[in-house]
Amino acid sequence: MKVLVLGSGAREHALVKAVAADPEVDAVIAAPGNPGIDATALCVPVDILDPDAVVALAREHDVDLVVVGPEAPLVAGVADVCRSAGFAVFGPSAAAAMLEGSKAFAKEVMAAAEVPTGLAHVCTTLDEVEAALDVLGTPHVVKDDGLAAGKGVVVTDSREEALLHAKWCLDKEDGRVVVEEYLSGPEVSVFCISDGTHVVALQPAQDFKRIGDGDVGLNTGGMGAYSPLAWAPPGLADEIVARVAQPTIDEMHRRGTPFVGVLYVGLALTRRGPKVIEFNARFGDPDGHASFARLESPFAQLLFAAATGELDGFGRLRWSADHAVVVVVAADGYPEAPRTGDPVTGLDAAAEVPGVVVLHAGTKRDETGALVSAGGRVLNVLATGSDLAKARSAAYDAVSLIELEGARVRTDIALKAERGEIT
Ligand code: ATP
Repeated sequence: MKVLVLGSGAREHALVKAVAADPEVDAVIAAPGNPGIDATALCVPVDILDPDAVVALAREHDVDLVVVGPEAPLVAGVADVCRSAGFAVFGPSAAAAMLEGSKAFAKEVMAAAEVPTGLAHVCTTLDEVEAALDVLGTPHVVKDDGLAAGKGVVVTDSREEALLHAKWCLDKEDGRVVVEEYLSGPEVSVFCISDGTHVVALQPAQDFKRIGDGDVGLNTGGMGAYSPLAWAPPGLADEIVARVAQPTIDEMHRRGTPFVGVLYVGLALTRRGPKVIEFNARFGDPDGHASFARLESPFAQLLFAAATGELDGFGRLRWSADHAVVVVVAADGYPEAPRTGDPVTGLDAAAEVPGVVVLHAGTKRDETGALVSAGGRVLNVLATGSDLAKARSAAYDAVSLIELEGARVRTDIALKAERGEIT
């Protein structure tokens, strides 16, 4: 099987590695890829927001499967155009990707499918926002309806801050905000693979969104993750399929916009049971690779079965008993103003730590061929081990060998879980 993977971050590096490890796969092409992906796949500098360029690349290499990594090409309809051109595509249509592209739409689908989630008001004026804040109380949760590259959500006790964020969202063209009930409880990510009809869930993972140890400071794209979650209720993934993913997939099917790909269900485990915080239409980064790193079933075949409507015949997923921990190495100044262009060294030594894989997120080669930072999150260090403590210490041993000036790294990824606490 030949597989084309679209994207250039650590998620795509993890996808490329997992796909390439499938014995059925004989070639992986990545667009545009990154310097880490380059070691496993043929990287081609194609604009992945340009559907025609992606189709031309898929034709040139006669690929059997296209895997769309990030949300932007999904919302731009790249999966639709590839599918119309006859390719098997793992990734939802633009219409189905609206589950991520519009929080108001996601809430509407959840209501129709009777999926447990917080109360929400969709607002188009500041007066409506004021009224919703009154009804829903504090902490206030104010969300931009559309994609906002991680800057769309504010959770605050300050009414002034909530209104300021709402105004920022409403000032955009066709701006809408979703004011939501605050959901209290540990957060969990469950990745649900679907062929448009059937659903199979990966084992839950947890990510760490705040920049600072102890979950303080600004929200980020994710500073680390781990899986499995020893403290989570047994059968959580099955419960989420039954109560969230399957009803959502059924509702999308009923609407004539079947969802094919991965439905990322972000949940809060509240005292009244799991409730959906958000849907995304792609794997999480880094929580996605913490989850599928432990999958023993052939990954490309799983994605191909989903892309071709054959998930029902795929059988139960097989999992390694290992634990996976991901620690993100971010640039100085991340997330406010990441500095780029700094040398990144020590990767080979880090990759030699047993159980460790170093995934490239924001790196590039400079004119001399040296590796330099090129984004906010620079590397994801993924480690697996026979228990959580071993996986953690392998990840942090590897991180200590990496040199990047001013690097920001959280030191407490999976620490509470290692101590047996709920996180
Ligand atoms: P990303 O793109 O990083 O997945 P996003 O910008 O789509 O995130 P959300 O995931 O919806 O935004 O929210 C970001 C974070 O804000 C959540 O991980 C959670 O910690 C917090 N949050 C969002 N909604 C709620 C809520 N209703 N109650 C409590 N916390 C919330």
